[in-house]
Amino acid sequence: MRLILMGPPGAGKGTQATKIADHFGIPAISTGDIFRANVTQGTPLGVEAKKYMDAGEYVPDEVTNSMVRNRIDEDDAQPGFLLDGYPRTTAQVAELDGMISFTGHKLDAAVVLTVDAEELVQRLLKRAQTDGRADDTEDVIRRRQEVYASETAPLIEVYRARGILVEVDGMGEVDEVTARIFAALDIVPES
Ligand code: ADP
Repeated sequence: MRLILMGPPGAGKGTQATKIADHFGIPAISTGDIFRANVTQGTPLGVEAKKYMDAGEYVPDEVTNSMVRNRIDEDDAQPGFLLDGYPRTTAQVAELDGMISFTGHKLDAAVVLTVDAEELVQRLLKRAQTDGRADDTEDVIRRRQEVYASETAPLIEVYRARGILVEVDGMGEVDEVTARIFAALDIVPES
């Protein structure tokens, strides 16, 4: 199973990614988490990425692409993977297509979580209080929403045209959203 999970900042991708990946026994690969881990460890990749992340901008494609390529080359990702936060640009879509076709596989579905703009800002401001993430300040949140709208939202139509788009309402309780995703992917929940 090879899946991508899309949605604006604050849509709840990270929370849902783990649940979907657990179901399929595949790793949930979050580019944001990998970047943050590198920032914390002070690696050269982290130093580079931090400049962009703190401003709400995307890390350059070359940096992100090679990081994802290395990650999905690892053993645990051979049966499949769920990408959370990648691809986010049309150039990344093309890279991912190449990575997947190289192994003779295909992308099975692109799940997109839809959430009202006002609810997104409220969720991120709440996360700012609990997690203290460096990019959850009001100005940076606004910039991240703009970048999503211009760079990433157009990818929805790309995957719709391919017939693999799965749109899911991301409003409401976490478990409700999970149930909707599972239903849309034809997953029978374990009791
Ligand atoms: P959110 O979905 O809340 O914006 P993430 O944790 O997914 O947050 O990502 C945090 C930051 O990491 C992004 O704002 C961006 O700077 C960087 N990042 C993550 N994924 C990508 C990507 N695919 N391409 C470029 N930059 C990325």
